[in-house]
Amino acid sequence: MSIATHDNGSFWFDSLESLPEPETPSSLPKAIDVAIIGAGFTGLWTAYYLKQRRPDLSIAIFEAVTVGFGASGRNGGWCMGLAMGIEALLAKPETRQTGIQVLHAMHDTVDEVGRVCQAENIDCHYQKGGTLTVATLPFRVQPMQERVERFHDMGFSEDDYRWLPASEAKNRINCVPNYGASYTPHCAAIHPARLVKGLAERVRGLGVAIHEMTPVSRFEPGRIHTDVGSVDASIVLRATEGYTESLRNQSRQVLPLYSMMVATEPLAQEMWEDIGLHQRETFGDGRRVVIYGQRTLDNRLAFGGRGSYYFGSKRKARVMPVDPMLDVVEQNLRDFFPMLHDTEITHRWGGLMGVTRSWRPSVLFDRHTGLGSAGGYVGEGVAASNLAGRVLCELVNEETSDLTRLPWVGDRTERWQPEPMRWAGAKAIRFFGDRADRRERRSNAPSRLWGGLFDRLVG
Ligand SMILES: Cc1cc2nc3c(=O)[nH]c(=O)nc-3n(C[C@H](O)[C@H](O)[C@H](O)COP(=O)(O)OP(=O)(O)OC[C@H]3O[C@@H](n4cnc5c(N)ncnc54)[C@H](O)[C@@H]3O)c2cc1C
Repeated sequence: MSIATHDNGSFWFDSLESLPEPETPSSLPKAIDVAIIGAGFTGLWTAYYLKQRRPDLSIAIFEAVTVGFGASGRNGGWCMGLAMGIEALLAKPETRQTGIQVLHAMHDTVDEVGRVCQAENIDCHYQKGGTLTVATLPFRVQPMQERVERFHDMGFSEDDYRWLPASEAKNRINCVPNYGASYTPHCAAIHPARLVKGLAERVRGLGVAIHEMTPVSRFEPGRIHTDVGSVDASIVLRATEGYTESLRNQSRQVLPLYSMMVATEPLAQEMWEDIGLHQRETFGDGRRVVIYGQRTLDNRLAFGGRGSYYFGSKRKARVMPVDPMLDVVEQNLRDFFPMLHDTEITHRWGGLMGVTRSWRPSVLFDRHTGLGSAGGYVGEGVAASNLAGRVLCELVNEETSDLTRLPWVGDRTERWQPEPMRWAGAKAIRFFGDRADRRERRSNAPSRLWGGLFDRLVG
C-alpha cells in the first residue's frame, strides 16, 4: 500500500472519510498583516480568534506539509483541563494562587473547545466524559487521595476532583490491577484529525489563506522566507512546536520528543461491557513514563505512551509501524487490559511533541518586532493550544485581560544545551523514569532514588 506524503500515518488520518489533497496556492501574496507558521491547533486557533476579532486583518498560514500533519493530527485526543507546569505552581504556597488561576482557565478551555465545535458545526466526536487516573499500585492510593484533598482545600469541589474507591473505579474502567482512581470531569475525548481539519475549514471560511506544502525556511521581523518566495508581514507568529528546529534561526528552542500510539480494531459490545469507559472517559495511571488512552467513537481503544528523543533533534516525518518503541506501547496496553490478548492492533504510529527547557508552555509576543510564538506543551497541548491561541490573539491586539496576565505570557526559558548534552539529558530522563516505574512496580513503594533523579531533571 502506498502512503501519500501528506498522510501522517495515524489512525485518525486513516479514519477520515477522505484525506484532502494539499492546497498549494500557485503564488504567494506579496504582503500581509499576519503570517502564521504552522497549521496545527496553535496556528489555527490563533488565526480563528484573530480573524473573528479583527476581520480587517489579512492573515495567512504557511504549513510545511498539510493541515494537522504534526502532533495535532496524531495525538491521543485528550482535550484536557490541565497543562504542563500547573501542578508545579500549585505545589508552592507562593505560586498556588497563580496555579489555581491557570487551572480554572484550563477547565474553561475544555468547554470553550466544545462550544466552538458546536457553534461551528465541527463534528470531532467531542464527548466530555472526564478522565480517570487509576492507582495500579497499592502505595499510590494514599498520595492520590491526598492530591484530591489538596484540590478541595484549594476551593475545588467533589464535582471537580473525586476519589473513586476500587469497587466504583472498576465499574468505570476494568483494568488490571485497579486499586481505585481519581476522577475529574474536566476532560473531553476528541478525534484530533476531525478537529484540526474542521477548524482549518472554518478558518479558511473566515478568509484566512492556508498555504500547504509551503515550508518556511527562516523569518525575521517583517518577513518570512519560503522556497517559493518571501512574504512581507507586520506580524510573524511561530506555531511549529516539535518541528521548530526546521527554521534556521530557531535551534535549541524546543526539544522534539516522540510520543507513540496504537489503536485496536473496533471492540465488540460484550468486550465493552467488561472494560467499561461508558462515558468515553480518557484514562491513564500515575507512572512517570506517561501512558494515555481513550475509547474512540467507533469503539476502538486508542492508547499511547511517551517515547524518546533522537540525537541531534532528528525528526521523522512519520514513525514506521515496525518501530520497536511501539511494541512497548502495545505490551503496556495488553498488560493494562488482559482481556485484549487476542485483539488485533490495526494502527501503530507516533508523533512529535515540543518541550521547552522549563517543561511548560509559553506564549511570547514582542510588539516592537511583531514576532510571537506559542507552544511547548509537551504532551498536553490539545486544549492548551486553544488557550494559547486566545492569549496570542489578545497580545497581538494589544489587549490586557486575565488571559494576558497568565504566567505563560512572556515566560522565556533558556535554550536547550548543545549536543551531546541534550541527547544525554533526554536519555537520562527516560532511563530514570523507566527505572523508577519498574522499581515501584516490584516494591510497591515510591522509588526515592530513580524517581528523585527523574523529578529533578523534569522539574
Ligand atoms: C502521539 C501524541 C499524542 C499526544 N496526545 C495528546 C493528548 O492526548 N492530549 C494533549 O493535550 N496533547 C497531546 N499531545 C500533544 C498535542 O498533540 C500537541 O501539544 C498539540 O497538537 C500541538 O499543536 P501545535 O499546533 O502547537 O503543533 P503541531 O500540531 O505539531 O503543528 C506544528 C505544525 O507546524 C508545521 N511546521 C513545522 N515547521 C514548519 C516550517 N518551517 N514551515 C511551515 N510549517 C512548519 C508542521 O508541519 C506542523 O503541522 C500528543 C502529541 C503526540 C505526538
